Amino acid sequence: MKLRLTDHFSLDEMLRSDTALRLGINNSNPPFEVVRNLGLLADTMERVRAQLGVPIYISSGYRCPALNAAIGGAKTSAHMHGLAVDFIAPDFGSPLEVAQKIAGSLIDYDQLIHEGAWVHLAISRHNNRCEELTAHFDKGRVSYTAGLSLSRNTVA
Ligand SMILES: [Zn+2]
Repeated sequence: MKLRLTDHFSLDEMLRSDTALRLGINNSNPPFEVVRNLGLLADTMERVRAQLGVPIYISSGYRCPALNAAIGGAKTSAHMHGLAVDFIAPDFGSPLEVAQKIAGSLIDYDQLIHEGAWVHLAISRHNNRCEELTAHFDKGRVSYTAGLSLSRNTVA
């Protein structure tokens, strides 16, 4: 049975991770606090979906500490608290177009990052900064610039 967080988002899709499956990491049993955060995150994503008017495909939601370490995520990653989600909405447009649409809406978020191939959206339980960033990848290293722009990706 799929536990629905909201009309369009299930707990399953917030926990699913191809990397976790591949590496045999159990990412499907988060603490209650995380499940509560994922509920708040799903509320925000409902607003994003309504704003875009198309389905959203989530590639990464919650990451348990082992999974976050395995993929080299930031030590303070909001993903580990169930407060961040990576997604695309190809029926609306590119990740940059999706991020720009969200930034131009009244949706509250802590960080909105154009990651090139996807959008990262994080919320805070306390104080949403409404910060917009663009990630640039250079030979495995990532750096960020303020604002939403084209991502410079250099393949090593
Ligand atoms: Zn992310």
